[in-house]
Amino acid sequence: MLFFYRTLLLKSYILCGIIIIQQYIEVIKMKNQVAEDKKQLKENKADQNNVNVFTCPDCGAKLVHEGGCVFCPFCGYSECQ
Ligand SMILES: [Zn+2]
Repeated sequence: MLFFYRTLLLKSYILCGIIIIQQYIEVIKMKNQVAEDKKQLKENKADQNNVNVFTCPDCGAKLVHEGGCVFCPFCGYSECQ
């Protein structure tokens, strides 16, 4: 009977260990996800900044660079440098 209890105890220890490891992995995954989200947010912000710099002030379309000039293919706005 004592042997049975020992085995049961050992089994529950192992089970506890597995659960703790699983929770640990879950926490690591969540941390990675948060880091990934922050990175994504930064990239999105950088993209938005780029768009702000290269958009037409008249219609808001993306400007095209050509021969030292920037022009808008939609409304014809152009800005030569
Ligand atoms: Zn335009």
